[in-house]
Amino acid sequence: MQRITILGSTGSIGTRTLDVIALHPQRYQVFALTAHRRVDLLFAQCRQFNPLYAVVADERLADALISRLRAAELATEVLWGAEGLCQVAAESRVDTVMAAIVGAAGLLPTLAAVRSGKRVLLSNKESLVMSGELFMEAVADSGAQLLPIDSEHNAIFQCIAGCSKKIFDERVIDRIILTASGGPFRTLPIDQLQSVTPEQACAHPNWEMGRKISVDSASMMNKGLELIEACWLFDATPDQVDIVIHPQSIIHSMVQYVDGSTLAQLGNPDMRTPIAHALAWPERIVSGVPALDLVAIGQLEFSKPDLARYPALALAIAAARAGGGAGAVLNAANEVAVDAFLQRRLLFTEMVALLEQVLEQLVPLRVDSIEQVLEVDMRARQLANEWLRRRLK
Ligand code: NAD
Ligand code: MG
Repeated sequence: MQRITILGSTGSIGTRTLDVIALHPQRYQVFALTAHRRVDLLFAQCRQFNPLYAVVADERLADALISRLRAAELATEVLWGAEGLCQVAAESRVDTVMAAIVGAAGLLPTLAAVRSGKRVLLSNKESLVMSGELFMEAVADSGAQLLPIDSEHNAIFQCIAGCSKKIFDERVIDRIILTASGGPFRTLPIDQLQSVTPEQACAHPNWEMGRKISVDSASMMNKGLELIEACWLFDATPDQVDIVIHPQSIIHSMVQYVDGSTLAQLGNPDMRTPIAHALAWPERIVSGVPALDLVAIGQLEFSKPDLARYPALALAIAAARAGGGAGAVLNAANEVAVDAFLQRRLLFTEMVALLEQVLEQLVPLRVDSIEQVLEVDMRARQLANEWLRRRLK
């Protein structure tokens, strides 16, 4: 029996994780569930999975959840805030932590899981983008087992199975190929990008995801964040990672070996597959995802991303090459930009102008501690918000 904490259980990844767990009650026991503000859904999840702990954003929401739990005669204990999240991530009785909070808010709880040597299923790519080197050092120090959930990185992990970590050093692998769908605006005339709405940006052709990652997919910032994520996870340089547009999202990524072999992982675009893979690894379990029907799909296409259409991708590649604190700056400025776009305070095409400004103004060469990462994150958000205020005057 694996005891699991799900950080962000009410999100897109969190709910799909519970879908897979529900298929295997004899293997997995839910130890803790966490939500930010969606108490209704969290309560329903507590009813179904009866966790020892539930965590919400603040005391007021905690009180609301407690009264509902007591009325339903459920014994789940309720915690709140960042402290509560870190507690259920690091608790000694927990074996596995699904890190599925969105954005920088996931950094400290994900690190708490890493530092206490858990098996960590990493969905929250932002935490790795922000703190890459420090995060991977913490993994090495604690002996935590890091399993990627992002479909691309999970695919790469599957394609290098049996290889040691230093796959590039040993000259076994030439390149990693990250596939990208190109998002909902792949074929929209570029001059129409400025008038796209949050609803259009969030209507991804292949994947149903949270709003932040959906906007990132539309701008391809998501692929930029994933490139940085891949560099840290697989010890690659940015130049060893190629990005290829593959609109069908059937090949989730590939690895090219020196002998000319290219290995790919294929599957329907459904996150329950990488979630089930990481939950069970090195075993395999049923995920609920139907088998792939290649004949019905018919064709798989590939093309090069056009950086004029996806300028955010170029900025992220530059940040990957710059290293140091550039990932933290990029991520923080992007979170502010996406939020402003979702609130209709910024046009889709203006997000990249905000990013450029902040990346130019703030160039932290090194970050030596998580405290420094958090300072850089805060400073980048301040600069981004100042830019927004000037822009909106
Ligand atoms: P989502 O918005 O659907 O869910 C986010 C979860 O985080 C929710 O449970 C929410 O309550 C919680 N949360 C939000 N803000 C919080 C805060 N300040 N403090 C504590 N909890 C907070 O997001 P998602 O699509 O599930 O994505 C989650 C993470 O997984 C992201 O980092 C994303 O990049 C990554 N990811 C998602 C997908 C996908 O298919 N959805 C695929 C690959 C990677
Ligand atoms: Mg992905």
